Amino acid sequence: MSTIIGMAEPKFVGGNIIATCPDCNAVSSFVPRTVDTDSGKETDISSLFLHFPHSYQGARYDGVLWLFVRCINCNRGGVAKIHFQNHFLSNVVEEFLPHAVDHAKLPTDVPEDLVKEFREAELDASFGAYRSGSALFRSVLEKTLNTNGYEEVTYTDTQGVPTAT
Ligand SMILES: [Zn+2]
Repeated sequence: MSTIIGMAEPKFVGGNIIATCPDCNAVSSFVPRTVDTDSGKETDISSLFLHFPHSYQGARYDGVLWLFVRCINCNRGGVAKIHFQNHFLSNVVEEFLPHAVDHAKLPTDVPEDLVKEFREAELDASFGAYRSGSALFRSVLEKTLNTNGYEEVTYTDTQGVPTAT
């Protein structure tokens, strides 16, 4: 899983996933139980365990657990891919959806189209799509410079040699 700047990596703790929820914007417990909103009664959600001994990041695991979960704050659903073994503390979350993005604070007077493009770049980067994220960040930078009177932007390397236009 790629590292998201400023975001806590999802963890598998006590049978639940601890992660940032993009809907209620809290570090939340995602539990493998659904809830009846009328009665409040909780029911276990099915999970999928694929037993195949394998290595992941230098450690041995018995298999992969796909765990379907629900945010206890807002009821948003999620799914985690967990490298699983019987030693509870050693289980590792490789992937977790939903993906929460730690948004950079932008000045309030930034035009809406630039904010939208910037947020899309952050989302790309959060999924590890760094090339497309970088291209969008560059586009935002160029538009910002153009808006502020810089007609032509020349990129140079550390020696001052132009690298692109
Ligand atoms: Zn939530």
